[in-house]
Amino acid sequence: MPFMHIRTRFAPSPTGFIHLGNLRSALYPWAFARHNQGDFILRIEDTDLERSTQEAVDVIIEGMAWLGLDLDEGPIYQMQRIDRYREVIQQMVDAGLAYPCYMSEAELNQLREQQMTNKEKPRYNGLWRPEPGKTLPAIPEGVLPVIRFKNPIGGSVIWEDAVKGQIEISNDELDDLVIARPDGTPTYNFCVVVDDLDMKITHVIRGDDHVNNTPRQINIMRALNGTPPVYAHLPTVLNDAGEKMSKRNGAMSVRDYQKAGYLPEAILNYLARLGWSHGDAEIFTKEQFVDWFDLESLGRSPAQHNPEKLLWLNHQYIQNADVGRLAEATKPFAHQLGIDTERGPDFVQVVGLLKDRANTLLEIAEGAKLFYSPAPCHSSEQIAANIPEAVAPALKDLIDALRNSEPSKEAYGAAFKQVLAKHQLKMPALAMPVRYALFATTQTPAIDSVLVVLGKDEAIQRLTKVVL
Ligand code: GLU
Repeated sequence: MPFMHIRTRFAPSPTGFIHLGNLRSALYPWAFARHNQGDFILRIEDTDLERSTQEAVDVIIEGMAWLGLDLDEGPIYQMQRIDRYREVIQQMVDAGLAYPCYMSEAELNQLREQQMTNKEKPRYNGLWRPEPGKTLPAIPEGVLPVIRFKNPIGGSVIWEDAVKGQIEISNDELDDLVIARPDGTPTYNFCVVVDDLDMKITHVIRGDDHVNNTPRQINIMRALNGTPPVYAHLPTVLNDAGEKMSKRNGAMSVRDYQKAGYLPEAILNYLARLGWSHGDAEIFTKEQFVDWFDLESLGRSPAQHNPEKLLWLNHQYIQNADVGRLAEATKPFAHQLGIDTERGPDFVQVVGLLKDRANTLLEIAEGAKLFYSPAPCHSSEQIAANIPEAVAPALKDLIDALRNSEPSKEAYGAAFKQVLAKHQLKMPALAMPVRYALFATTQTPAIDSVLVVLGKDEAIQRLTKVVL
């Protein structure tokens, strides 16, 4: 194939709720453009004025930025291109590629009913379609026409879908599509064609709910002397129950995942695998993904959302993340929980201690609360209930041993060992009361690490309060 400058686009309709699956339709064209040193364009298909919202646009743009899906052009809003669509409609009418149709709604409905009674597929019958030698009906007064595209008659539209293989649709299946409404506004499929041509899109990678639109779009494109792009229609993303993803059945937006403490690289990795694979690679960097991405490896069957897998991936990314960066990313979550990360133990150390057991940044922040809460005030009843009298002498010895220890995990570990041996105790018998004394809970990470993070002096102070 001669050199082709690849140009792809993500063309969302900013209507309703934008879930994770929607953003997968951005990821693949982005990766394809990046892999081929091409361009990636964001086009906002906002001509449905009633259903389009700025909120949905924001979710899309923020979500893409968060995942690092950078743009070469856009966002381009279709509503700002209306004049261009009108211009092309006029050109098509002038060139005889499209024509005004004065059939009223009522007549259309009547036609449809008749066709249904005859068990025919409802379709426009070409009444107003000009043909050589044909006399058109008299133009009714006061009726504003729609403009219809003169779809080719006979033959078929064939394309080699990069995901679905060859698809052939007979032109007999396609009636003359309305490309402009009576008020002159362009219709959806028409705008897509004009945009894909004007934007020199070479590869259209989109959801397979658009397969049915494709033959119509190809016909219009050819009428405009354009070369249809390569189409790759992605199978839908199903939720974990096997239904189409939607807000109603619990789908979450990218923003929700961000708020729940997911890392963008985990989401990107997860989305990448939701319908595409590279051997058995499950965890890969963004660079590897771009490097490996090809249309041939896109899956042909619907992908299923698996929240546990996403959580597992997030855990992997948290475990392997640079702890300084992780701490920065966790801070906003900690602040939300009322933690003042500037006062108390070093936050980076706290995060380093908690990250191996956390699945989300929120979980790290929740774990961190332990270290930033004020020292517990135990009543004597609580002390009696949680710290066995028999352990008190060991606790006193531990305080002394800690006082003489270097401030390190190893040294604190050795201090514990020495006290345990002296008092013939097993680790939990001492560690549980220590945890309780320090935090009023027995659920903490490894006690020697906890002591490092909390600091020796603070720990000794807290321990002293329960043995005196
Ligand atoms: N706006 C369409 C959608 O959100 C996508 C159109 C296209 O990619 O051609 O489903």
